[in-house]
Amino acid sequence: MTYIVANWKLHGSQDFVKNYSEILGACLNTAPKEKNITTIICPPFPFLERVALAGVIHGFSAGAQDCSAYESGAHTGDVSASMIKEIGAGYVIIGHSECRQKNPNEHQYISQKILQVQKAGLTPILCVGESLDVHNTGNADSFVLDQLEKALKNYIDLKNILVAYEPIWAIGTGKTATLQDIVYMHRAIKSAPLLKNLNIPILYGGSVKPDNTSEILTLDTVQGVLVGGASLKAETFNFIVKAAF
Ligand code: PEP
Repeated sequence: MTYIVANWKLHGSQDFVKNYSEILGACLNTAPKEKNITTIICPPFPFLERVALAGVIHGFSAGAQDCSAYESGAHTGDVSASMIKEIGAGYVIIGHSECRQKNPNEHQYISQKILQVQKAGLTPILCVGESLDVHNTGNADSFVLDQLEKALKNYIDLKNILVAYEPIWAIGTGKTATLQDIVYMHRAIKSAPLLKNLNIPILYGGSVKPDNTSEILTLDTVQGVLVGGASLKAETFNFIVKAAF
């Protein structure tokens, strides 16, 4: 299975969803069945239901970009995992670095959010990754393993999760991690005590573009890519999807 995930961040409109779905759908129609490609589109919340409905017609899944750490209650502005499930999405991105940066206490909520996602019957896409400062110290692997340990400490259904390694210095910068960096970190994640022998799909994210997707997907530690900027034009995203054909 290869996972191709689009994170639209704060972009989109109702018309955008319609046009994008049709263009992406035409591409997915030509996908070789034996390749087993799962395409997941993660729009802002107001468009999630539309994306989920369009996905039923055009052959992709919908995911949310975040969810509440709570099931219900006095949490103005939050959206719960069960609400996300109810409108037809299948996945939730948790721990994206932009959410972690916006809320310095985010790390305290990640394991709770993952539990909510599991309880709702959805699959979390857990993002981990180090800053440039941490990268330059040479301790990126222990930093990422610590993020994983904290996020997954209470998680029971460890088989039902995707992990995306997204070095912060590669997100939106045009600086993709080297293939060696990716393999090194993916191996470290795969051998993390909690994940060992579970064969969890591990994705890479950080300036993935049409011209570097193929080489990233040929790495045997990589089961997919999480794409931000290059997912915002359906035609460009189609080239990335086609790299998995
Ligand atoms: C992301 O938003 O997770 C991401 C990887 O962004 P970009 O592809 O733009 O680096």
